[in-house]
Amino acid sequence: MKGLVFRGKGDFGVEERPKPQVVRPGDAVVKLAKSTICGTDLHILKGDVPTVAPGRILGHEGLGTVESVGPGVAAFRPGDRVIISCITACATCAACQKGMPSHCATGGWVLGNTIDGTQAEYVRIPHADTSLHRAPAGVSEDGLVMISDILPTAMECGTLNGKVRPGATVGVVGAGPVGLAALLTAQLYSPMKIIMIDVDENRLKVAESLGATHTVVSGPDAVKRVMDITEGAGVDTAIEAVGVPATFDLSQEIIAVGGNIANVGVHGGKVDLHLEKLWDRNISITTRLVDAVTSPTLIKLVEAGKINPTKLTTHNFKFSDIEQAYSSFAAAAANKALKVIIDFE
Ligand SMILES: [Zn+2]
Ligand SMILES: [Zn+2]
Repeated sequence: MKGLVFRGKGDFGVEERPKPQVVRPGDAVVKLAKSTICGTDLHILKGDVPTVAPGRILGHEGLGTVESVGPGVAAFRPGDRVIISCITACATCAACQKGMPSHCATGGWVLGNTIDGTQAEYVRIPHADTSLHRAPAGVSEDGLVMISDILPTAMECGTLNGKVRPGATVGVVGAGPVGLAALLTAQLYSPMKIIMIDVDENRLKVAESLGATHTVVSGPDAVKRVMDITEGAGVDTAIEAVGVPATFDLSQEIIAVGGNIANVGVHGGKVDLHLEKLWDRNISITTRLVDAVTSPTLIKLVEAGKINPTKLTTHNFKFSDIEQAYSSFAAAAANKALKVIIDFE
């Protein structure tokens, strides 16, 4: 079979690899129908993620058909159409029992990281019973791929950790795919205002079409604009969806008294914490790696039409053109790219 292989910093390409097999009783092998590229994959290519060894097939998001299952798999059978979770969960270790499978002792984020991932014709999924979800029929599969990672990430690390409440004001710093997914999930909780902040005016236009009540172009007067919109109070929830010092700083500057800064961004360097300004402001700061525990609920919400994740996808590429898909996604602003779907069928 073919897979997209990380060969080392800045070096990757499609290679011929042996088709994965069931190794442990709980494994399933899934034939991919759709995959996608994540910002995390770009970090890996830059050499920012040392756990990814050269030779690894990338990808932690996807949807496909179960090809074979080990004797320990009870919930899935060959032929089942499934969504692959970016988080592999054993369901029995201490972390899983705390509801934190992101830190599962024998799982967590392993796909396209410490084991071969989903940018390939086939993938082996450990702990299949608790790491796959049945794909509902009659729902756009391009949308369902967003259940693999960005929708639960936005929901858990952003909306839920940020305690978005009815009537509240929310600021989302960063209108990339995850920031826009946070915009979709935050609306489930009926905030009064959702302010999207980004440098890219095209993404802000998309945000308006997805329900943002206000947009702010990132720049020297961004804080003032947010303060004007919130009548000087700041936002009750600041969702940091980029992962660089400037956006974390901005989140600290716009947070209201009693507010919650929910960090979603993947940070590669240190940031300054302005406790000299925040110590008496009754705020909370949360961090989280997605646990994907809200995925079953999100699937129902997509099925019911309460969330339409197809609005987060902008491009489709055939798997044979995956290297071109990477170039398009890497130059996202120039190509007006949000999520890029890879089609195998
Ligand atoms: Zn991802
Ligand atoms: Zn576990």
